[in-house]
Amino acid sequence: MNKILITGGAGFLGSHLTEKLLKEGNDVLVVDNYFTGTKENLAHLLPNPKLELMRHDVTFPLYVETNQIYNLACPASPVHYQYDPVQTTKTSVHGAINMLGLAKRTRARILQASTSEVYGDPEVHPQPEEYWGKVNPIGIRSCYDEGKRCAETLFFDYNRQHNLDIKVVRIFNTYGPRMHPNDGRVVSNFIVQALQGKDITIYGDGQQTRSFCYVDDLIDAMVKMMNSEDGFTGPVNIGNPGEFTMLQLAETVLKLSGSKSKIIHQPLPSDDPKQRQPNIELAKAKLGWEPKVNLEDGLKETIAYFRKVVA
Ligand code: NAD
Ligand code: UDP
Ligand code: UDP
Repeated sequence: MNKILITGGAGFLGSHLTEKLLKEGNDVLVVDNYFTGTKENLAHLLPNPKLELMRHDVTFPLYVETNQIYNLACPASPVHYQYDPVQTTKTSVHGAINMLGLAKRTRARILQASTSEVYGDPEVHPQPEEYWGKVNPIGIRSCYDEGKRCAETLFFDYNRQHNLDIKVVRIFNTYGPRMHPNDGRVVSNFIVQALQGKDITIYGDGQQTRSFCYVDDLIDAMVKMMNSEDGFTGPVNIGNPGEFTMLQLAETVLKLSGSKSKIIHQPLPSDDPKQRQPNIELAKAKLGWEPKVNLEDGLKETIAYFRKVVA
């Protein structure tokens, strides 16, 4: 049995991860400053005495005892990470230093929730882990992209310098129940707009692509990575290779929700990546993992969830 620390555990992915790890019988300590996460995300798990919640900002040191750390703390939606960009960089960089320091003292295994954003607006398609990316260091997305890149650097330096047991996953766009209705990311925006009969806001011409992974598949891979053989550090891509334009996504959401909403176009934010698709050969080989839920099935589950929350 493990004493597991999850930073960002009250967020979208963190709450699903907490649920799975509790189900497996582990002790889980969730550390979160509730910037984008909520206690409601974990309310159904609170009766379990193996769960402990702690309000704390990971940019400050944290002294607790643990033998596994999942470091997820960081706003993930562009709207939220651009709200206070300096805090976003601090969360990724100071947060990583503090959690790595904690892992060094406790000799805990530590996993970093990195992102496909480390590839930026990629010139290699689909993206394998060996690709170094094309990232603007001074744009409005840089606080997130460069913060996450620096966190990866710190993880690999703590591994080389202090022999820390690290695991790094690069997560591609993930969606599912418990995304916040005002999260601002495309899947939740389109579904909430469709259910409320509001216009569906496509940024730009809608020809940009993303590859969407259902949350259960993603969490399964993250836990497999944490428990993978000693010495396999990653980075490893985790995502669903099914690639869709934003126009296709909007049309699919309209069809599955039976909505009569209109599609409208709004300006494309700067530095918005044109295409993104994971190469998941490494995850298949090293973790024996591949996603099982296709976009339509995952959207149906997510739409059913949002009907209860916003309709
Ligand atoms: P989310 O915004 O729902 O969750 C982030 C959590 O971190 C929230 O609970 C928030 O309150 C907390 N947090 C933020 N700053 C903090 C700080 N300084 N101290 C303590 N807690 C803090 O986002 P999510 O989708 O659940 O993403 C979780 C992680 O996975 C993030 O690190 C994100 O970068 C990464 N990721 C997610 C996706 C995705 O598609 N969902 C893709 C790539 C990477
Ligand atoms: N740290 C922490 N919890 C711990 C141990 C360390 O938050 O249990 C923080 C500590 O404040 C330090 C950072 O992690 O700033 C990095 O720790 P490390 O031991 O690598 O560096 P040092 O303390 O030598 O600067
Ligand atoms: N997007 C959109 N309408 C929205 C929200 C997002 O067309 O209401 C687009 C956005 O410009 C981007 C894609 O959808 O091209 C994915 O955006 P998201 O914020 O979900 O994630 P990221 O850009 O970080 O991959």
